[in-house]
Amino acid sequence: EKDDCIEGMRKMTELIDGFKASKALFTASELHVFDMLRSSKTGELQVEDVAREIKASVKGTERLLEACVSLGLLQRKGKEYTNSELSRRFLLSDASYSLQGYIQHCNEMVWPLFSYLESAVKEGTNQHEKAFGKTSDNLFQDTYYSRNEVKLRFMKAMHSIAIVSSRDVAMAFDLSQYTTACDLGGCTGAMAYEFVKVHPGLSVTVFDLPEVIEMSDHFRPHDADNRVSFVAGDFFKDELPKADIYILARILHDWSDEKVHILLSKISKACSSGGCVLVSEIFLDEDRTGPGRGLLQALSMTEGIQRSASEYSFLLKSQGFTTTHVKHTHNILDAMLCVKEGLGNQ
Ligand code: SAM
Repeated sequence: EKDDCIEGMRKMTELIDGFKASKALFTASELHVFDMLRSSKTGELQVEDVAREIKASVKGTERLLEACVSLGLLQRKGKEYTNSELSRRFLLSDASYSLQGYIQHCNEMVWPLFSYLESAVKEGTNQHEKAFGKTSDNLFQDTYYSRNEVKLRFMKAMHSIAIVSSRDVAMAFDLSQYTTACDLGGCTGAMAYEFVKVHPGLSVTVFDLPEVIEMSDHFRPHDADNRVSFVAGDFFKDELPKADIYILARILHDWSDEKVHILLSKISKACSSGGCVLVSEIFLDEDRTGPGRGLLQALSMTEGIQRSASEYSFLLKSQGFTTTHVKHTHNILDAMLCVKEGLGNQ
């Protein structure tokens, strides 16, 4: 009884304080604490040096650094602070798995929205107008791509998550029978570059809005493979490139069932029999009790819907695609493969 109570109390305080931990991480990242510690000669600094470098008060810096130590983001020996293994891997701006872009997006975009969660729940609508002073009918064109600075930040956020998750998605299925893929809403191309690395016989066309495609050079890897190409267009209005596989990574959750049907029916028309759709999303448990990442994201109250694998399968089935494989990757994104039925099966 007593142990249960202590465990329950621990869980409750963790939940209550969760927002403080997020904001401490966002602030340290925003103030470049991790990059700055790394760039110092010895990789370790005292509070006064850090405060001077980040142009902040000594008192505030000390409290931030101590909080970061408690969260496992920094280490402290005597008076010296250094980056922890976790921050070296994920928080330095040039780390291979840097989450800096995603952290910045959460701090600038998601945090303000979540401060209006009560209204969002009462009204069942997104709170862009309250948080940013303007409505957002189309999340991408009205919000993310309205200003260059915001667009680049959003693209960096997508890029950081794609870099961390794309290998598991690319490896999820044997795609050796296919030669062409089209990554719809493929953004910076991070997923596409991983697919061609994993599948030597595959070429991938990244299809995204013109505003995004014009920035793709910013994200071109040093060893960019020329089997990845970029095409600008609107996947609701324009003709889709022909391909054997259509990749939809983190696309369908942004849209209502009605819009998903429009998109899938366009794919179905462009796709030859035997071709397929590869959907990559966080798949909700079938009883919608988890995972928290998907259910918490749904609280941003966009027109999108978080769905389970069978809910995605149902939408795909109505456009002539049969789900043949579902893979829970245990990384950020799961994946499923849905094959277009031949004429005889329709
Ligand atoms: N697939 C990428 C990934 O997993 O990292 C990006 C996912 S992001 C949530 C959604 C992408 O869809 C953005 O790159 C956005 O520009 C693109 N998008 C939104 N509406 C679109 C449209 N109408 N036509 C083409 N692309 C669109």
